This record gives sequence, C-alpha cells and structure tokens, in this order.
Amino acid sequence: MTNYRNFPMVPRIIYGRESISQLDTIISAKRTDDGKMVFLVDYFFENNTEFLKQIPIKANDILEFIDVTHEPKTSYVDEIRDTLVKKGTIDGVIGIGGGSVLDMAKAVALMITNEGSSSDYQGWDLIKNAGVYHVGIPTLSGTGAEVSRTAVLTGPTKKLGLNSDFTPFDQVVLDPNLIKDVPVNQRFYTAMDCYIHCIESLTGHFLNAFSRSYGEKALELCQDIYLKKDVWDNDSDEKLMMASWHGGMSIAYSQVGIAHALSYGLSFMLGTKHGIGNCIVFDHLEEYYPEGVREFKEMVKKHAIDLPKGITKGLTEEQWETMINVAYGMEPLWQNALGPDWKNSMTKEKIRALYEKM
Ligand code: NAD
Ligand code: ZN
Repeated sequence: MTNYRNFPMVPRIIYGRESISQLDTIISAKRTDDGKMVFLVDYFFENNTEFLKQIPIKANDILEFIDVTHEPKTSYVDEIRDTLVKKGTIDGVIGIGGGSVLDMAKAVALMITNEGSSSDYQGWDLIKNAGVYHVGIPTLSGTGAEVSRTAVLTGPTKKLGLNSDFTPFDQVVLDPNLIKDVPVNQRFYTAMDCYIHCIESLTGHFLNAFSRSYGEKALELCQDIYLKKDVWDNDSDEKLMMASWHGGMSIAYSQVGIAHALSYGLSFMLGTKHGIGNCIVFDHLEEYYPEGVREFKEMVKKHAIDLPKGITKGLTEEQWETMINVAYGMEPLWQNALGPDWKNSMTKEKIRALYEKM
C-alpha cells in the first residue's frame, strides 16, 4: 500500500492590492499583554520610509532587517533567535521579503520553541514543538516559500530545509502591490523558479492529479505574463503572485527535478542564489526538458535577460567533487526526473559535463 503524505496547508490567507493594510487587525488577535511581535524585513527596504509605514509596529515590537546577501544560514537563524529570546515573550514572527526572508521567518519562529541549533533540525520531521505564530508576506514572487512546508537553510554540512508540519505559515498576506517594483532581472530569476517548479513537477514520475491541477495553472500564468503579454502591468504582478502560490502547491505533492539538484550544487559550492542558479542550469537541460527549455530560451530572449556564463571555470578538483556529490546526493529529485532506475542514466561524469557547460 502506498503511504500517502498527509500535509498541512496555510490555514489563513488574505489576497488583494493593499491587503497589507489589514495586517494590524489580523495580528492584534495574537498579541498578549507583555508580548511583542517581531518583524523580519528584507534589508532592501531599510531606507524606504514609504514602505515601512505600512508595517504596524507597536511600542514593544522589534523590527530587524535581514541581510539576504547570502541565502539563509543556520548560524544566522540561531543568532537572531538567541537575541530575541533574551527580550521576553515573543507573540509572533512576521517575515516580509523574498524567499530568503520568508524562510528566515519560518525558521526563527520554529527555533524560538525548539532547543539547540537550527542545523540539528535540517531534514524531515525533526522539529518537536510548534513554533510561535508566524506570518509570511512576500515582496518577490516565484519560490513558493509562502506556501511550502520547508524553510531552506544552509548549514555547516548541507543545504537542507526544516521540513515539518509546524513549518508552514499560520497566515499569509498576498498583496500584489508589494512586488511591483522588483527589478526586471531579479523578478525573472525568481519567477523562473516557479516556471521550473511547474516543468519539473509536470514531467516528473511523482506527478498525480493533485499536483497537475496546480502545476498546469501556474504554468499557464507564467506563459501568459512572460510570453503572451508585451508589457508588464498590474495584472502581471497579480498573476505572478498566484503562479508562485500554485507552483508551490504543485511541488508540495510531487517533487522538483534535475534543475534543482544541479542548482543546489552550485549554491552549496559557489553560493549561487536559487533563482539565478536554476536559470543558469535550466538553460542547458534541453536533453531532459526539451519543450520547457525551448520556451525558457524564448522568454530569456523576449525579456532581454542576462544569464551569467562561465561560472564553473577555475574550480579545483576537490571543489568539483564536492559540488557533484551535493547534486548527486539529491536522490528524490533524480528519482522524480528519471525514475527509480535513475542511476543507470545519470552518472557523476554526466553531471560534471553539464556543469562544465555553465
Ligand atoms: P531573495 O529572497 O534571496 O531576494 C533576492 C533579492 O531581491 C534580494 O537582494 C532582495 O533584497 C531583493 N528583493 C526582495 N524583495 C524585493 C522588492 N520588492 N523589490 C526589489 N528587490 C527586492 O530571492 P528569492 O528568489 O525570492 O528567494 C530565494 C530563496 O528562497 C533561497 O534562499 C531559496 O533557498 C529559497 N527557496 C525556498 C523555498 C521554500 O519552499 N521554502 C522554495 C524555493 C526557494
Ligand atoms: Zn525552487
């Protein structure tokens, strides 16, 4: 008998332009007399007073800007948690930013109630206690981090998420206004994370009607905004925000594939960020995803996107080995892409040959 996954979903979501204005009311129900809310905000907004005015900070609350130069590290999560717990009762953690900040917020909320280092919990269902109330507010769309059951962290030995039933946000605020000013290249890289989630899920061996129903919708939305339309407008932001949500839902019940396996290797070895890493990799995967890669190249051209080249040049043999091992170790991703006998068709030599093209 198949052991079907029984996973939680985000229980509350508010959607709409300027819906962030209702955040104060939404979180007030969770405030206690002596507790505080913690707002973790992308450092991109540090000097943007217009943006910061939308955040309902009360006298006791804490506002912390999150430096996302690097993807979230377990040491950064631990450091923030350690400072916060010294300041008294935390009623909730609200993450406002891209996938990196959303993952930081989920991880910090969990680590307030679970002892030790977040690196002890990288894996599946290792979290023992429910975290404090946590809210996710994306300012960049595509990763699906707003809906997922994981908080991806880079630790001392691996890049792996805190995957647990306690990880999903208790509340999400989807306000398309918040993503309207993202620069074209960044918006594309993160949007393509969503596009690649769809292709990997829809062509994978783990596909089922549940995943397909979300994946097809997300793919259609991506194609609509990046191929059919010639100008970026409010409608594009709204569609991209929903594509990210559906793309995340699609992989919740299936899995990603080769682009993600190779992108994880790049990220671990070279620090390449997730969205751009996926794009760099996907550009060379025509053998595995012919239709998806053809369409991807069309979108890159239409939107005049810069994709870095030559990023794996000059690696030492030791670095090659580490990077290839990280990618090869992503077993479920290879299984999804190539089937249970994936080792017959994918070798470490082949992985190296693919990386050498990048
Ligand atoms: P990001 O959060 O790393 O942000 C990328 C850049 O965009 C940063 O410089 C940031 O400051 C900036 N930015 C954010 N909002 C902006 C705005 N409104 N205007 C202008 N700039 C803005 O990028 P991302 O692609 O959203 O997230 C990548 C991270 O998400 C990675 O750490 C990856 O591991 C993680 N991820 C998580 C999941 C999950 O399910 N939890 C899934 C996929 C990816
Ligand atoms: Zn992804």
